[in-house]
Amino acid sequence: MPRSQVGFRWEVQTGGMRVLLVEDEETLADSIRRGLEAEGISVDHVADGSDGLWRAREGIFDVLVLDIMLPGMNGYEICRTLRDEEVWTPILMLTAKDGEYDEADAFELGADDYLRKPFSHVVLVARLRSLLRRSGSAPAKTLTVGDLVVDPSAMTCARDGVAIDLTPREFAVLEVLLRRSPSVLSKHELLDAVWGMDFDGDPNIVEVYVGYLRRKIDRPFGAETVRTVRGVGYQIAAVR
Ligand code: CA
Repeated sequence: MPRSQVGFRWEVQTGGMRVLLVEDEETLADSIRRGLEAEGISVDHVADGSDGLWRAREGIFDVLVLDIMLPGMNGYEICRTLRDEEVWTPILMLTAKDGEYDEADAFELGADDYLRKPFSHVVLVARLRSLLRRSGSAPAKTLTVGDLVVDPSAMTCARDGVAIDLTPREFAVLEVLLRRSPSVLSKHELLDAVWGMDFDGDPNIVEVYVGYLRRKIDRPFGAETVRTVRGVGYQIAAVR
């Protein structure tokens, strides 16, 4: 299989995934984030364990990646607390080779997998992908507005039976709008949902992607599904 094709398949299976990373080593955290974002995975990062627990409770993440030794609250305590509260988001623990905890503890406390530092991005992405597949947390339901049909788990999109090819990021924008349809989402809500809370680039990226979506899902079909509500934001509506 040609390399480019492998890369594409990889991207399709991880795109739209949202990860909460709780890691206090800033250099490592930055490096993980860059690696995952390059795969189209959105990463929210916090350095403190207590903050991590609060964010994890929001229930918006597909996978939690927890370091063990953290200020505030350690990774094991976060894991145990979440499971006690019946939060079942898949958890990957990052362990150190000479850490004071045994990796078996991670499973006992409710983690789904662990990865020993140091690790490569490729291995991390593969583990996350496998966790998501095993947990089945990728939503299986098909989303439909008018003649537009989107399958989030297969990452496919079609209109009038014609398949539409979207990049992982375009797909994520469309999926968030569809799930909340017909609500109007502000640019910042879309930024948080698709690019992550700590995205610090130009917020106008949202407009750019809304434009890409229109060119793919609307214009060729004479439709106006992606609507701009002036001064408020964007919405998906079944108006043709
Ligand atoms: Ca640490």
